[in-house]
Amino acid sequence: MNDHQVLRAAVLDGDGIGPEVVPVAVALAEQALAAHGVRMVLERLPYGESAIDSHGSALPESTLNALEHRELMIVGPHDSAAYPPPHRDAPPPGALLRKHFGLYANLRPAQAIPGVRATAPDIDLLIVRENSEGLYADRNMTVGSGEFMPTPDVALSVGLVTRQATERIAERAFEAARARRGHVTVVHKANVLRLTTGLFRDVCLEVAERFPDVRVDQQHVDAMAALLVRRPADFDVVVTENLFGDILSDLAAELSGSLGLAASINCSDTRVMAQAVHGAAPDIAGRGIADPIAMIGSVAQALQWYGTRHSDPGVLAAAEDMRVRVAATVAAGVRTPDLGGTATTAEFADHARAVGVGSS
Ligand code: ATP
Ligand code: MG
Repeated sequence: MNDHQVLRAAVLDGDGIGPEVVPVAVALAEQALAAHGVRMVLERLPYGESAIDSHGSALPESTLNALEHRELMIVGPHDSAAYPPPHRDAPPPGALLRKHFGLYANLRPAQAIPGVRATAPDIDLLIVRENSEGLYADRNMTVGSGEFMPTPDVALSVGLVTRQATERIAERAFEAARARRGHVTVVHKANVLRLTTGLFRDVCLEVAERFPDVRVDQQHVDAMAALLVRRPADFDVVVTENLFGDILSDLAAELSGSLGLAASINCSDTRVMAQAVHGAAPDIAGRGIADPIAMIGSVAQALQWYGTRHSDPGVLAAAEDMRVRVAATVAAGVRTPDLGGTATTAEFADHARAVGVGSS
């Protein structure tokens, strides 16, 4: 019996539609894993607005401590704008998690789902976004704050790029390309931001030399935005810095159908956090109509990361099983209102669970 027959996961439901979509994704993962001989053991932890009420913090110390021992976290959206003061003005709990655990890579795939109207039905790419540096001051792990105002009428922002952080994100991108179509596009703006994004480009191209089997090219971020719309099928893996990655991944997600379908993981070399790209969607929360596809996709992506790291075919098969169930459910016409359908979250979940998949 191998030691991965039990997979322990921490589950943080979060705010808004989080408690509606996270349990659906978790239940589907449990079912898919069980079908491949893996038992998932869950630990639900306080997080978000309900944790402010019960523990006085959106990210209680007890939750952080429990997470220290968990390689896999499944995390719902947070709606920090709705928190009571002073919590509203504190760094959002999702950003704190990324920073605390050094989750330096944000991997956002964009792929159309057959049957869902997409501007770019043939898009199939993975954006590998550096998650710890660049212009995003609150995620900046090396210097305190990247933004400041020397006078009330002047605001400055400092961008940080280091060789070490660029090297590790580039390695993740080239490794990912090996398991895909063997092509990496390095995105930068080295004609203007010569030192920062220039270093990013140079280090990525140095790393490329260690992956001679992977084709590498480069684009300026502005040209990249246009090319993503014009010929999206040309791209396989896109590696870029924090801000560019944030913007391009929303663009790619929308091209593939809808931001509401977009899955993502945040990871380090030893930990993974499944977290859908969308927010807490307070406008539809509590109505039972949230689309669980992004959350399900995020958990499937986290299982894929875990299965790859541990060379565990059962976990890898479970990830694929989850994707097959989503595709089959959409193909059967069971869709939530965001996709033009009338299904509830529960109806989607029931259908997905009942899909016959291979041996499961
Ligand atoms: P954040 O600031 O946390 O990123 P946001 O303001 O960008 O949040 P979301 O919470 O993602 O916004 O919601 C944007 C729109 O998309 C809303 O109209 C919301 O209802 C819709 N939406 C987001 N996620 C889903 C989902 N899973 N199912 C259906 N609709 C969704
Ligand atoms: Mg948003």
